Amino acid sequence: MYDVIILGAGPAGISAGLYAKRAGANVLILYHGISNLEKASKIDNYYGFENGIDGEMLYKAGIKQAKNLSINVCEEEVIDISKPEQNFIVETANNQYLTKTVIIATGNKKLRPNIDGVLEFEGKGISYCAICDGFFYRNKDIAIIGNSTFAINEAKILKNVANKVTILTNGEPISSSSEFEVINKKIKSIHGETKVNSVEFVDGSSININGIFIALGEAGSVDFAKKLGIMLSGDNITVDEKMKTNIDGIYACGNATGGLLQVSKAVYEGSIAGLSAVEYINNK
Ligand SMILES: Cc1cc2nc3c(=O)[nH]c(=O)nc-3n(C[C@H](O)[C@H](O)[C@H](O)COP(=O)(O)OP(=O)(O)OC[C@H]3O[C@@H](n4cnc5c(N)ncnc54)[C@H](O)[C@@H]3O)c2cc1C
Repeated sequence: MYDVIILGAGPAGISAGLYAKRAGANVLILYHGISNLEKASKIDNYYGFENGIDGEMLYKAGIKQAKNLSINVCEEEVIDISKPEQNFIVETANNQYLTKTVIIATGNKKLRPNIDGVLEFEGKGISYCAICDGFFYRNKDIAIIGNSTFAINEAKILKNVANKVTILTNGEPISSSSEFEVINKKIKSIHGETKVNSVEFVDGSSININGIFIALGEAGSVDFAKKLGIMLSGDNITVDEKMKTNIDGIYACGNATGGLLQVSKAVYEGSIAGLSAVEYINNK
């Protein structure tokens, strides 16, 4: 049982971890996939670096700093968070962890594939959340666009309601074997009239489907929020001044909460989230 599990090892997640650990909590940080910070070739406007600093270097230094403080930092993809009873279960590709509190610091990516028809049919047969919208596709034929563990997990959720679930990797290799039919052709476009009804591949072939779920890369903050019923404002998690979401025990920080998408703001919010999580545990 952890006191605090933090999703993400960017400036928000690491900062949350440092403050929670120093306040006496038993902390686990899980991370997987690229951080925004790693993409920044040079951070020029963060305090203390007179000549700026390479984003990837800063990212790696943060992870090392947390490990030096004896925080468990593990490279594992989080695919689900649930709250069966009092505590939370954080599920990764290979493990399940029990925790009293969760801090979501997974950044703000919402990956939209560059395929004709995606934008046009969002909300009209294209969804980004299996647990939220799967119900609308009872006994229908559904496709998942994605190739990751997250995509396979979404397919597993949908299999309970749909007639058939097919994974479309859009030309990418699939990350692990699965029980589902996999089509690994490159997708050309998505078609329909008022709603999606088919997917056309670059080789000219097509399949008929009633709905598409997009699950690219890792599950992001919006995916977790939708599954847990956390309030969103657009694609940003809504938090109060203590970085608390509308669900007791769940906090969010950094790019996941929107606003100024900068390292300084991620570090600040992370520290508040870390302290707030510990305060919540102590008050309980
Ligand atoms: C090109 C570029 C240049 C930039 N330049 C600047 C600059 O000059 N100055 C500045 O202040 N800011 C800059 N930024 C913005 C800055 O990088 C971000 O604001 C900051 O990194 C946000 O921190 P974060 O911790 O919220 O998210 P991120 O740094 O994005 O970290 C997200 C973390 O979540 C993890 N994660 C995501 N999904 C999962 C999952 N399902 N399971 C487990 N882990 C997961 C990732 O592995 C990562 O560790 C730049 C960004 C980019 C892209």
